[in-house]
Amino acid sequence: MRVQNNSHMLTGKVREEISKRNSPIAEFLNDNDSFSILNAGYDRDYLHARKAGGCFIEDCSGNIYIDTALGAGTHILGHASPIITEEIEKQAREGTLYILPNKYTYEVGELLSHAIPHFSSFVFCNSGTEATIRATRIARAYTGRKKIAMFSGGWHGGNDMLLFEEDYNGDETKPVPMFKSPGVPEELMGMMLMLPYNNGAAFDLIEQHKDELAMVIIEPSQGSNPRDDVGEFLGELRRITAKHSILLCFDEIVTGFRVALGGCQEYYGVEADIATYGKALGGGLPIGLVAGKKEVMSVVKGNGHKKPVFMGGTFSANPLVMHVAKAVLQYLIENRGTIYSSLNENGQRVRNTINEFCAANQVPVRMIGIGSISRMIFTDKAIKSRRERDKYEADDTLQKLFYSYLRFEKGVHVSSNRILFLSTAHKKEHIEKIIHSIIATLEYFTKHLNIFK
Ligand code: PMP
Repeated sequence: MRVQNNSHMLTGKVREEISKRNSPIAEFLNDNDSFSILNAGYDRDYLHARKAGGCFIEDCSGNIYIDTALGAGTHILGHASPIITEEIEKQAREGTLYILPNKYTYEVGELLSHAIPHFSSFVFCNSGTEATIRATRIARAYTGRKKIAMFSGGWHGGNDMLLFEEDYNGDETKPVPMFKSPGVPEELMGMMLMLPYNNGAAFDLIEQHKDELAMVIIEPSQGSNPRDDVGEFLGELRRITAKHSILLCFDEIVTGFRVALGGCQEYYGVEADIATYGKALGGGLPIGLVAGKKEVMSVVKGNGHKKPVFMGGTFSANPLVMHVAKAVLQYLIENRGTIYSSLNENGQRVRNTINEFCAANQVPVRMIGIGSISRMIFTDKAIKSRRERDKYEADDTLQKLFYSYLRFEKGVHVSSNRILFLSTAHKKEHIEKIIHSIIATLEYFTKHLNIFK
């Protein structure tokens, strides 16, 4: 089966839609030299939002979509959940930043030690990126080694030390890294080892570099190819890193408090030495967390004559975020028996239904995922990694048009990273609407545009 690129047939229509939807901010989108917003995503062609609630998001023209982006997976309780907004209002009146320590931080620490019981030491910060930077510093201080290993297809935020991707011209069992962005010094590449994800060749590379490696960092289930078949791979990674006293760090910024209360570590029964969290924990406010085993994290305070590892930050563990994190954690802990089974069943139902439809209709698309995290893959080949995904998937223009049609014609918004998240605010009718909308879009592309052949 092949994918034909008839994308030109939709381009005009989608473009027209986008310019209509953006009209309330059109005055800011005209080419003009007086100022520009350079943050990622601030493109004139992209959807601009003005508010959100539950599982819905509204654009600047008042069009409402079912949201599957959910703040890049953050809003596990849906947008503007009263569990969170009431706490924000309460704490905002009592001060948002003291610089002095606040009691909520201890309360969050106590709740964390229930949610992820193999960790007892915590450092809070303000984003996932910051958490991966801090985890790297802790690992280097603890081991006295310099090199960090990361996996091809992984993402750990805008952290210069890990801002690399695989050059696919190289051998897949020995990934050749390249810079993901200008501005990262050449020298940093020499302090990083890239490993193949979900591939046993990674263990040979770790063996070869065992004396230089401070830490192996991994998104246990990668956002670029979310999957739930990596238990054995993660178990072996745990075994080999422990054997060589290399720290194993799980980047659970997406999966933490989402696939299970204890993230992928609970889901797969694999304990890392140190882990990074963010997103869901902050209930939509900026947060990052490094959690670790006591012994590893002890370097933060300094060991005997050793200097402490620097962990300061103006906004870290501020009372507003901590007050909200406490409410989120309390709710997740109290309801863990129902929340995760229902979120994960809903995710599985979306994937199963789409996959059954595609298989029955010879549509070369599949949906993969873990729990409430899913991604459509525009090929019917079973893929093992991001590299294989990129090798087999249909052209990116086609995918962009697919998601534009799904959004503008069917009212379901999928983020530009193409990961679909579900929340507790997505009820049965919303799940059905997501499924029907995706199937209707696949049918439109297949029957009317003749794109999948
Ligand atoms: N790690 C992972 C796995 C992520 O998905 C992200 C963000 N999408 C980050 C790190 C970086 O987090 P932040 O955007 O909060 O800096």
